[in-house]
Amino acid sequence: MKATLVIKDIDNLITMQGENRPRAGREASQIGLIKNGIVAIKDDRIIYVGDKLPEYIEIDESTTILDGRGKTVTPGLIDSHTHLVHGGSRENELAMKLKGASYLDILKAGGGIHSTVKATREASFEELYNKAKKSLDIMLSFGVTTVEAKSGYGISDFDTELKQLKVAKKLDEDHPVDIVSTFMGAHAIPLEYHDYPDSFVDIIIEEMLPIVAEEKLAKFCDVFCEEGVFSIQQSRKILLKAKELGLGLKLHADEIKPLGGAELAAELACISADHLVAASDQGIKAMAERGVIANLLPGTSFNLQTGKYAKARKLVEECVAVALSTDYNPGSCPTENIQLIMSLASLIMKLTPEEVITAVTINGAASLGIEEEYGSLEPGKYADLVIFDAPNLEYIIYHFGINHTDKVIKNGIIVYEK
Ligand SMILES: [Zn+2]
Repeated sequence: MKATLVIKDIDNLITMQGENRPRAGREASQIGLIKNGIVAIKDDRIIYVGDKLPEYIEIDESTTILDGRGKTVTPGLIDSHTHLVHGGSRENELAMKLKGASYLDILKAGGGIHSTVKATREASFEELYNKAKKSLDIMLSFGVTTVEAKSGYGISDFDTELKQLKVAKKLDEDHPVDIVSTFMGAHAIPLEYHDYPDSFVDIIIEEMLPIVAEEKLAKFCDVFCEEGVFSIQQSRKILLKAKELGLGLKLHADEIKPLGGAELAAELACISADHLVAASDQGIKAMAERGVIANLLPGTSFNLQTGKYAKARKLVEECVAVALSTDYNPGSCPTENIQLIMSLASLIMKLTPEEVITAVTINGAASLGIEEEYGSLEPGKYADLVIFDAPNLEYIIYHFGINHTDKVIKNGIIVYEK
């Protein structure tokens, strides 16, 4: 078998080898480290991972050979919670935030998400496409090879929701980074439904979800379950309909108030519950029992300056699998930098470097239902990997706030070089 690309003499090769399932508890620390490692790729797939190239793998002058000395190689990073496609930006809220206004204060003042809704409704397909493409390029430069992208800035304007999902679909086709789409019409109560939120829930269920499912525009459905947004009952109603239509389930759960989102995610066996800053101990236990992945977003806590972060250590101890994402969005977390999120997760939430890399590779893949083909370096899987200009994993997390990426390989092709 002839290799098309080989990376050899890799100082630290982090394979994440093991079962294709979310890794929880002690398993989240097993990263399959190989010293002086070699990865061989044929076309878009990995054909060998180890420390001595077997004879059946041929190398000739057409094989690209990369030197891994002084480098750390990991599976391509997976940013499994973003609001990638949107119009506008909200730097004008910075002054309010510095004076201590909370997310809900800004929302009540008619700002926050509603200003992004307005900007996204007004933006053309092309404007949204170009803006999101720019962000995808940045994500790729930080080592991200798969991104989840939610709609949710059209809300009651269904055409805008569809526009967002179609932009994501087109970018998935055009851009090296893969995009997994999530429908999140239930992202805010539209201003005109303020007094009749249940009517809006009915519209999502009866009019929006069936079309999203029929046109196969999203793999998942997500709901912002929070005080002042969607209640537990409303969230349950929407997600049950989504499930009936064959969509996977996600939930923005217990970000601000302990509403019972973690418990609801467990009840509905959601693939992930995200945020979880205020999740109750019972909710965490219930998630562990049902195998719900905790998708943590420390960049959001950091940017909102709440001082409150999800109890990551508690989640690990209770054997909940943890994923980590940017939550990239124009309001509560305007950054595409997953490496910064990895540092925050370790420095603030006390996850170990091993738990962090697990969270952005195999557990990220599992939270998107793609762990059979992505998220670890094993023969047969897609050749998505990052070469970091860093001698070891700890260095990437410790030397924070900069970009350590040397090269990114997607489907066996070098798609980013420093
Ligand atoms: Zn979010």
